[in-house]
Amino acid sequence: METKILGRTRGRFATAAAYIKAGEVVAFHTETVYGLGANAFDDEAVLKVFALKGRPADNPLIVHVHRDYDITQLIDGEPHYAAALRAAFLPGPLTMVYPSTGKVSKYVSCGLNTLAIRVPSSPVAQAFLRASDLPVAAPSANLSKHVSPVTAQHVYDDFQGKIPLILDGGACTGGIESTVLDCTGKVPQILREGLVTREMISAVAGDCGVYKRQTGEKPKSPGMAYKHYAPRCPTALANSAEEALRIYRNEEMGCGKPLILCESALIPALEGAEVLDLGATGEEMARRLYALLRRAEDSATLLIGIEPKARGGVMAGVCNRFKKAFGEQT
Ligand code: AMP
Ligand code: MG
Repeated sequence: METKILGRTRGRFATAAAYIKAGEVVAFHTETVYGLGANAFDDEAVLKVFALKGRPADNPLIVHVHRDYDITQLIDGEPHYAAALRAAFLPGPLTMVYPSTGKVSKYVSCGLNTLAIRVPSSPVAQAFLRASDLPVAAPSANLSKHVSPVTAQHVYDDFQGKIPLILDGGACTGGIESTVLDCTGKVPQILREGLVTREMISAVAGDCGVYKRQTGEKPKSPGMAYKHYAPRCPTALANSAEEALRIYRNEEMGCGKPLILCESALIPALEGAEVLDLGATGEEMARRLYALLRRAEDSATLLIGIEPKARGGVMAGVCNRFKKAFGEQT
């Protein structure tokens, strides 16, 4: 199968919608990362997404809808704070988990009685979803465990010849996946940190918890238990610039080609080493992280990461992805 990357081309959204209605899988730009979408009502199409990604069968998918889609068809009521959160943050990088009516394919939620819904703000995603006018189940458009894609080329690298179409919207401006928020309880609870932060949610909902799995407990958001976001080169995590330089020199002595990934502020302390600049602000680090991880895997024999020191806001999401990319369970 030929995989077409379609930028601004007349009729591309109608073409993509036709594929979706025919049970095919289509990749599309969103403001967070690229998604790999299928008609959420179609069992076969949803199973195709799991097969293409090599995604574990117990890791549920997020359903994407356009801004005017009537989600009351898909959910069994919502708590009072959820309407306020929708008004404040949607369309945008916030996924809300509701009690499900069970109308979409049972494979979407992998047996959970909840449904995760997202209304992306990317104009490409909106136009595609409007043309389809269906809930589109879409995980990130990467092979399972690999780094999430933030350009059409990243998607192509993982799925060339396996899907018919990638809707290109350029580089994703958000850069890390949406915040996943459990809206089934009295107080909203973050299951996965992202660009919509706990502070932002609390300011609207009055309160917001962050789910922490107890050891041995089945995770509320199964995806968080899996190895994720890993570049395909060996990695090492350092606590300081000095430690990173020590590991770097060792690798060079063994004739390797190491790279260091760290925040801008540390670069002056790493003279003589080849460094990938993660950025200075949380937003910048979120936007750059995955592209830099993908770049590193193409050239480095060892990628040495120094976890950013900045905290607050989107840094919770950035650090969560950063540590997972370097093999730490969070
Ligand atoms: P991805 O789309 O690849 O970023 O992964 C989707 C994330 O949303 C995973 O971490 C899932 O575990 C989570 N998710 C999807 N549906 C649900 C749900 N019904 N309840 C809890 N978490 C969910
Ligand atoms: Mg993913």
